[in-house]
Amino acid sequence: MRVTTVGVVGAGAMGSGIAALAASAGCRVVLLDIPGDPDPASPNRSAPARTGLQKAIKSKPASFMEAAAASRVRTGNTADHLSWLAECDWICEAIIEQPAPKQELFAKIEALMKPTAIVSSNTSGIPMAVLLEGRGERFRRRFLGTHFFNPPRYMHLLEVIPTPETDHAVIGAMRSFAERTLGKGIVLAKDVPGFIANRLGVFGMVATMRRMEQHGLTIDEVDGLTGSLIGRARSATFRTGDLTGLDVLAHVTRGIGATTGEDFALPAWVHDELVAKGKLGDKSGGGFYQKTKAGTLTFDWKTKEYVPQQRLEGGDIGAA
Ligand code: NAD
Repeated sequence: MRVTTVGVVGAGAMGSGIAALAASAGCRVVLLDIPGDPDPASPNRSAPARTGLQKAIKSKPASFMEAAAASRVRTGNTADHLSWLAECDWICEAIIEQPAPKQELFAKIEALMKPTAIVSSNTSGIPMAVLLEGRGERFRRRFLGTHFFNPPRYMHLLEVIPTPETDHAVIGAMRSFAERTLGKGIVLAKDVPGFIANRLGVFGMVATMRRMEQHGLTIDEVDGLTGSLIGRARSATFRTGDLTGLDVLAHVTRGIGATTGEDFALPAWVHDELVAKGKLGDKSGGGFYQKTKAGTLTFDWKTKEYVPQQRLEGGDIGAA
């Protein structure tokens, strides 16, 4: 089973990045998003997917390995062009992190996919068993989770989440394609809420925010302490949040909290002062941090205002 044609639904941060990665690896890619206009004759019908592709083309660091690979991506919308997915060897869902829209999409894909296609979800934590509700046996055998991390080209880890019903040949084919063609490092995860990385990582992120509040620290201090200094990514805690998207983080924490009964609640100010006000991180031009012409500002969770960023340097920190 060879994957040469890929369909990605959802042209946001993850979908456009996955499309760029697959196109860079030589695949032909169909990238779909919701229609940009209810009028079928509107030239903006496929604008959301086109915008996603443009963002991937311009992204820094680059999502495409070479600019020419972008010509292998065909953009469309889910109202007019869903039938394009019938040609695809692998269809990857990367839409909003909510069960109902994902389930609706899978019902439509089930009706048109070719029998040999593999279908996967990039969900951050919704169990595959939930996403499969209402689907038939044939679909269930061809379905698994493929949890890429942000940005998909650069993050080596890929969690592959088979269900007890996934065909072994499908797991093998996805493994080999992801390792050999996309260059990922695979971890097979059980179909439990949050899988491995988010069950631990998002829990750690939320716990860090709580400690910050208890000790009266600032976002700058926490990122200074939880990044390179302790051998973790430079994006540390809050830069990672901005990269992920605060809306995605809100959905993920709510979902994993509800399904595990564990405490994944984000501080109220994240919901009230940032998510509710559209400050969703890099995708909206600001979140925990905001870039301005005068420099980077950091959200002060005590005063609820942005203040100039204070980097932790010198002293014991510098020595460490
Ligand atoms: P995003 O908000 O950047 O993009 C989602 C895209 O899906 C948007 O362009 C939106 O218009 C589109 N969309 C929404 N509903 C749709 C529908 N019914 N049909 C077609 N398109 C639809 O989100 P994202 O960060 O790219 O996340 C996508 C998925 O990947 C989510 O399940 C998320 O949990 C998961 N994920 C996100 C990250 C991350 O760091 N952001 C990491 C791993 C996994």
